[in-house]
Amino acid sequence: MLVRESVSLGAQLLTDNKVTQVAVETAGFSVQTTLQMIHARRLVIATGGVSWPQTGSMGDGYRFAESLGHAVTPPRACLAAAGDSGKLGGLAGRHLGRQGADEGDGR
Ligand SMILES: Cc1cc2nc3c(=O)[nH]c(=O)nc-3n(C[C@H](O)[C@H](O)[C@H](O)COP(=O)(O)OP(=O)(O)OC[C@H]3O[C@@H](n4cnc5c(N)ncnc54)[C@H](O)[C@@H]3O)c2cc1C
Repeated sequence: MLVRESVSLGAQLLTDNKVTQVAVETAGFSVQTTLQMIHARRLVIATGGVSWPQTGSMGDGYRFAESLGHAVTPPRACLAAAGDSGKLGGLAGRHLGRQGADEGDGR
């Protein structure tokens, strides 16, 4: 749907074209990619975060924003993978109490 709507509004989609650098220029911005240089009046950085680099989001957007003069708050982890090496398999279907929360200890 996003692709269809974007194209119907005249957007050009460029894939396999990694942005390596952005810069301010007189009439807007320049965007250097692995394939070409693009000049644009406006620039939206939508390169995602850093929580899962395998998805292609390596945190480049933070670097781009900083290079344009924005202050970037250092990212902190908010997602953590949980593994149990199969030890919790026997707990399937069991209910675990919310002990910490029930005791009102603030956790
Ligand atoms: C493990 C995990 C589970 C999640 N589960 C949920 C869930 O259940 N529900 C939910 O709502 N959200 C979930 N999220 C969060 C959700 O995935 C993100 O909030 C959302 O994808 C962010 O969208 P975005 O468009 O900002 O960035 P992204 O989806 O990360 O898109 C950024 C795009 O920019 C591209 N890009 C990055 N750098 C460059 C570059 N230099 N040049 C060109 N392209 C570049 C990337 O390849 C990517 O395609 C989860 C996230 C993770 C990591």
